[in-house]
Amino acid sequence: MKKLFLILLVTSLPALALDYNISITLNPKEKKISGTETITWQNTTDTATDVLPLHLYMNGFSNNRSVFAMESGGKHRGNRMDVKEVKGFGYCKISALQLNGEDAMSAFHYISDLPNPESLGVFWKDEISKRIRPDRTIGIVRLSKPLAPGESITLKITFETKFPRVFARTGYWKSFFMGGQWFPKIAVFQGEKGWNCHLFHYRSEFFADFAHYTVALTVPKNYVVGATGYLKSETTAENTKTLTFAVDNVHDFAWTAWDHWKVATDNWKHVKLYLPYPPGHEGTVQRQMEALKAALSGYAELCGEDYPYKKFTLVDPPMQASGAGGMEYPMLVTGMFPSPLTPVGVRIPETVIVHEFGHNYFYGMLASNEFENAWMDEGMNSFGTAYAMERHYKYDLDFPFLKMDGFDEARIGYGSYKGPDFPGKAAWEFSPAGGGYSNLSYNKPTIYFRTLENMLGKEKFLQIFHTYFAKYKFRHPTPENFLGVVKETAGDQAEDFVRRMLYTRDKIDYAVTKAVSRQTPPFLGLKNFKAAPVDKKKTKDKKNFQNTIIVENRGDFQYPVSIEVRLKDGSTKSFTWDGKNGWHRFEFDSTSAMKMAIIDPKRVYACDVSLKNNAITLEPQTGSSMTKLAIFVSQLVQLVFNISSLSI
Ligand SMILES: [Zn+2]
Repeated sequence: MKKLFLILLVTSLPALALDYNISITLNPKEKKISGTETITWQNTTDTATDVLPLHLYMNGFSNNRSVFAMESGGKHRGNRMDVKEVKGFGYCKISALQLNGEDAMSAFHYISDLPNPESLGVFWKDEISKRIRPDRTIGIVRLSKPLAPGESITLKITFETKFPRVFARTGYWKSFFMGGQWFPKIAVFQGEKGWNCHLFHYRSEFFADFAHYTVALTVPKNYVVGATGYLKSETTAENTKTLTFAVDNVHDFAWTAWDHWKVATDNWKHVKLYLPYPPGHEGTVQRQMEALKAALSGYAELCGEDYPYKKFTLVDPPMQASGAGGMEYPMLVTGMFPSPLTPVGVRIPETVIVHEFGHNYFYGMLASNEFENAWMDEGMNSFGTAYAMERHYKYDLDFPFLKMDGFDEARIGYGSYKGPDFPGKAAWEFSPAGGGYSNLSYNKPTIYFRTLENMLGKEKFLQIFHTYFAKYKFRHPTPENFLGVVKETAGDQAEDFVRRMLYTRDKIDYAVTKAVSRQTPPFLGLKNFKAAPVDKKKTKDKKNFQNTIIVENRGDFQYPVSIEVRLKDGSTKSFTWDGKNGWHRFEFDSTSAMKMAIIDPKRVYACDVSLKNNAITLEPQTGSSMTKLAIFVSQLVQLVFNISSLSI
């Protein structure tokens, strides 16, 4: 009975203590939405609070002095913030606010207008800087009396959001709209630790509580809408229509509206799939749906459970609004399909679709804090992307002369990083130089998790992710929660490996530093102190070889490793080394010359930072110019991937 009670305690979902009821009207000409939002919030902690912080992300685009604009330099994934004219900017303005039905507008302040925001218990570590002054990405409601544990409060907000020209995942292009981070959203209260509410940073994403959402969206009659949640009703007026969506257990709500959308539909198990795409992209529908289904299957295998909602929308934004592409929201993501002419061997569009869908697991349901622990959503999800892509397609780049998968790309990216950071940092704590954020949040976890999979075997490895998902879905898991699961399912060494991956620069680098194969020379000198007869015809024994191999552990982990030797007659020999004492010498005789010595031939240690030193070949290789070409092309592709993977 007790055991059963404990199981129920662990697996039952927390009751939703948060409800959003939003009603907005889109004005396509003004590029604005306006309306009302009613938030009902319950204090489920055992600590009282006298403030309610609201995220107003759109104000990150309201001028070129916001924290987002200052940190990004007005650039995001190759797009520029449009600062030439006012209509390029965006904002979210609150014009009226009631608390439990009474006017409380005088209790509302933008963070930049408060004299001592540090005293509010809303921030984390040393985030506050002088730059906060013009930043309005947080609004604070001060309560006249503290809200005690268990108590609820209702905020009714009248607001207006002006979209920027598509930039950093949201905005408009002509009559197209991508509604991301468009409404005032309450922060996450963590009891004694205070409110977890960060400014809108360039290098970070979002964090919010699971809620029930009802969103009524009024648009011109000829508009087509895609949104988070399920369509509950549709009513029409003279020139407009109102679509009402509702859903439980999501922590954000996004939508798109355009009068040019075409929509393809399909099914995967219990899930209805929607694909709004621009005219001209008809030829991409099949590829996009295939990628989406590959993602649904791949993540179900990785996490042990099917995507649970009954609807999923993949938005394929028009090319001119590519800044809206490659972004995740619950039940709706945006892909990026640059052209129907993209060769089938270039699966970058598929990779983006798989990745963004995957965030519905690593962010959507496993709602870790994206501000503080980017590796928990981006790193685990980049591993999931490579896993699902390999499972369905084998390669991301698939040409006769070049085949690469997501693990190759991650290894090259991580191997190229020489900076001082490690993944276990808040997004804005990474040095802006040297590609640390993308290589450490995305690439390093990907290739280390592949290494862990190789070390543990697939079954044990999947047990980690299955347990993690079962235990923490629809919650806010922390790094220690995940490390705890690794330890309990795979043991101390696995936990130590993941912890050092996160919080140190420890690396794996095995090398073969010497490989010599010599024909055994004839015996010369004294035998029993008497000169031995010299056979002048037989200068060397052509049938016997003395071989020496020196291997080194240039990394920080001391794990056992295998060494494979290939001989000219086609035979092979294997050795194992415990990886300790820095280096080791292997000596053996053979009847055929050694051709090649390879350390870790099966690439168990996929995260080995240098594969160049993993083998020595004792005879000239053919096709070296082809190899150089392949390396050059792969580096070029990696560059493209690095650019496109920034914050996707
Ligand atoms: Zn991502």
